[in-house]
Amino acid sequence: MSLRAACAALRANGRRLGLVPTMGALHQGHLALLGAARAAGADAVAASIFVNPLQFNASDDLARYPRDEDGDLTKLRDAGCDLVWLPPVEAMYPPGSASVIEVAGPSQGFEGDARPGHFRGVATVCAKLFLQTSADIAAFGEKDWQQLQVVRRMARDLDIPIHIEAVPTMREADGLAMSSRNRFLSAAERATAPLLYQTMQDVARAISAGLPVTQLLADDKSRLIAAGFAPDYLALVAAETLEPLAQKTTAPMRLLAAARLGSVRLLDNMAVPA
Ligand code: AMP
Repeated sequence: MSLRAACAALRANGRRLGLVPTMGALHQGHLALLGAARAAGADAVAASIFVNPLQFNASDDLARYPRDEDGDLTKLRDAGCDLVWLPPVEAMYPPGSASVIEVAGPSQGFEGDARPGHFRGVATVCAKLFLQTSADIAAFGEKDWQQLQVVRRMARDLDIPIHIEAVPTMREADGLAMSSRNRFLSAAERATAPLLYQTMQDVARAISAGLPVTQLLADDKSRLIAAGFAPDYLALVAAETLEPLAQKTTAPMRLLAAARLGSVRLLDNMAVPA
């Protein structure tokens, strides 16, 4: 049965289909997206596992990306997933493919600078998955805040009739955001890693309290460096557009951070209450 036919069967009689796009090596954060899609009104949920070459700009990162197909399928089955789509690269990008989706606005800066072409790959693969499945709802993690804004913008700009459900970041008990790449942290790095979240919480509280933003960000970047991180950015932005903010506003704000710890690039973000 084709993917289109399988999804049409799940959508029969007005049933709503949820979609959870992933790159596999699944953890609790991914599984929370399945539940969130159901809570948002999906009667059936499909997950895709596709390590999308178009969104990797370093071939070594792509080759190193963790894969665990058997474990993933077991987890999805246990979580009650109705359909899993594991397309080969040639099925997503057949020879002769020549179209990509370029989103400006929220793609710019931060991960867009650190990983040129990354969001072109993300937007293109998400648009294809949305159109292949005709899903009514797609769940995305807040863990990748910029990605969430890019996908929302893309679906809105291209009039794709899909609801994008944002799902709060699942964290380990010590606050570290769950990520497929955390398995590459050494024991010492794993012990240091939660400091990123703790530092961000301190910064977010201080910004809410009205302390000067630029100074705070600089001081806390230094604190991360002293702890062994190589911070890429620590920034206060407008939550939806990702425009950098030099001072707090009453509109929704987000604190974004990326920092390398050993060979792992940690990514995190959180809301900053006005
Ligand atoms: P990935 O497989 O890393 O591409 O992630 C697939 C989806 O899972 C994306 O929507 C991510 O934002 C989401 N995700 C990854 N980690 C977490 C987490 N710790 N909590 C919530 N969602 C997550």
